[in-house]
Order: sequence, then C-alpha cells, then structure tokens
Amino acid sequence: MIATRFAPSPTGYLHLGHAFSALTGWHAARPAGGRFLLRIEDIDAGRCRPEFEEAIFEDLAWLGLDWERPVRRQSDHMADYAAALDRLDGLGVLYPCFCTRKAIQDEVAAADRAPHGPDGPLYPGTCRALSPAERREQIANGGAYALRLDAAQAARHVGALAWEEAEVGTVPVDPLLLGDIVLARKDIAASYHLAVTVDDHLQGVTLVTRGRDLFHATHVQRVLQALLDLRPPAYCHHRLLTARDGQRLAKRDKAETLRALRASGRTPAEVRAMAGFPDSRL
Ligand code: GLU
Repeated sequence: MIATRFAPSPTGYLHLGHAFSALTGWHAARPAGGRFLLRIEDIDAGRCRPEFEEAIFEDLAWLGLDWERPVRRQSDHMADYAAALDRLDGLGVLYPCFCTRKAIQDEVAAADRAPHGPDGPLYPGTCRALSPAERREQIANGGAYALRLDAAQAARHVGALAWEEAEVGTVPVDPLLLGDIVLARKDIAASYHLAVTVDDHLQGVTLVTRGRDLFHATHVQRVLQALLDLRPPAYCHHRLLTARDGQRLAKRDKAETLRALRASGRTPAEVRAMAGFPDSRL
C-alpha cells in the first residue's frame, strides 16, 4: 500500500506552494486507498512556533485534506534520533566538529580551492583531521560540538547506491555531494537529514513527495538509509510553484499564504485550482 507524507516546519504560515506539495502527496496516495501522513518538523525550537503548527492543521483541513492521526511531531521523538546516531557512531562514520560558523567561513575564504556543493561551499573537513587525543582535550575543555558524517568513510561503507525517482527512473547517488553534513547540531541533538531519514522509515513512507529544492538532500538521505539498513522509499521531487514575478514562493510572501487567500474570500476549491489541482476529487 502506498504511503506518502507532507512534512512542513512550523516556522510560518503555509502558502500556495505548500498546498501544491500537500495536494501532490494526498493525490498520490488517497484515491488509490493509500495512506497520507503529516509530520511536523519542529526540532529547531528556536524557529518553530506552536501557533504555526495549529495553523498548519487548520489550513490543511480547510483546504479539504485529511491525514492519519496521531500526527508525528519530531520534537517528541528525540530518542529515535539518538538511537540512530548511536548506530552510526558504532559504524565509525561520525566525528565531533567544534568549529564555529565563523571559523568555517574563514577557513573557506582562506582556502585556494574550497570544496563546493550545489548550494555553495562545503564544510572543509577541519575537525575530521583531529586526533583522538585532540578530540578528548577539546571535549574536556568544554568545547561544544556538532556530529558530522564522514562522507568518504560512509561512501566506502555503503558502496554504489541509487534511488527510484518518479518520471526519471533510477538516479545514482553521489555520496560526497553535500560533504560532511551535520547529523546532530551543537544545540539540537539531531538535524534535518537525520530526522527525515529516521521518520520516513518509522512512519512507513513508501513514496516521498516533496519539492525539487530537496532533490540534492536525497543523495545524503539515501546514504543514511543504507548505513542504518532501512528500506528506501521511492521519490517524486515535484516542480516548485512560482509567484507572478517568477520567483519561488517562500514563507515570506505573505500575500500568498492560505490564510490570506481565505481571508480574501477564496473558496477551498478555488485555492486547490490555483495550486494546480482544478479537478481535485476531495
Ligand atoms: N520540513 C521540510 C520543509 O519544510 C521538508 C522536509 C521533506 O519533505 O523532506 O522544507
């Protein structure tokens, strides 16, 4: 049975782009009798607000969507991410990183050829080179640290990988694409990539429907699935809706929030049509 999910972060009000994403997931599952799940991605307590979570439920229900309960809220499941980190640590693919953001920027600026990924410079690997004694010393001195994935080590571990992408077919994984990503932040004992990978598995998601902006993330999430021995879902990275000026819709585009559209008198059917689902069978 197909299971899809919509996984917003409660950092602002949902806009038309979110409606498109949620409707894409819902339509990929529900008409065929499959499951549609909702997940609140709120590990970043500093950016998330309860009122935005409430608004997510309200706006999606208004739009006409239904979803399975209980809803998974990531901040309630930190123990699951800790268990995954333990397992990765046991494989020897993690290392502590004591760098500040500023130290990383300086290092990148000073390097002749800093490694770059699709979204800019990658972590230059400074703390990967620390000896066990240096790590112990930093920790003993109270140095706060993140945990990073040693991408090269992980790549050796998992060998060649791929994922199945709707309409495109098999996509080969580049395990080094995003470099040594953070799996546990200094201030939060998890990270986006880790939590998403663990949750898609625990929620039984079989098809991840999400925007093309997250296509690159799948390379590293597929590596994490392999390291953690999880069955990979299939993927559908859908197009992104754009505003009239051609720019991608973002949470800051207040005028396009679902609440603003609703307040201006639009009906749910009209908003579904605006999001590209005119014949929605909701
Ligand atoms: N929480 C992420 C976002 O709001 C989406 C994560 C995902 O779909 O994998 O952009």
